[in-house]
Amino acid sequence: MKFAIPLFLLLIAFALVWLSRRQRACLGIPQGRLVYADMGAEMRVDAPLFDAALNLVGRPDYLVRSGEEFIPIEVKSGRTPAKPYDSHVYQLAAYCVLVASRYGRRPTHGIIRYPQREFRVEFTPELERGLHTLLDEMHAAKHRPEPLPRSHNQAARCRVCGFLARCDQSL
Ligand code: SF4
Repeated sequence: MKFAIPLFLLLIAFALVWLSRRQRACLGIPQGRLVYADMGAEMRVDAPLFDAALNLVGRPDYLVRSGEEFIPIEVKSGRTPAKPYDSHVYQLAAYCVLVASRYGRRPTHGIIRYPQREFRVEFTPELERGLHTLLDEMHAAKHRPEPLPRSHNQAARCRVCGFLARCDQSL
């Protein structure tokens, strides 16, 4: 009887670990420690990640630590595409850069999670170069006297765009 209570606590601990692993598997979160989550006002939010050299700031939805590596996870709502949208891939790449800047270790990949499935996106040197090109273009565009013309005819893109309220070219 002396061992009944410790044994009971041990069984509870095993059950909690098992439940937590199962939940992570269901959610698609890789094994690792959830170190930082931005899920709105209800949860504690750390300061956004910042890279002064690139003048880049951002905050992934999750960062998961897997071994020595920090993996950014971006959660998207709406329709699940057959492959990630380019804009989402570049957003994730920006988070990879910010994670590397903050933690001194370049992530090998990040994850984009849509409602129906998630995609592992390799943070390749090519993707990083593409991101830098995009950032250069964006910084150059900021100094143009005229705004860039809209590059698409998709009203759905405008509906989920973060600039919708301020954009005079929205569909
Ligand atoms: S709202 Fe404006 S900036 Fe956003 S996608 Fe539409 S046209 Fe582009």
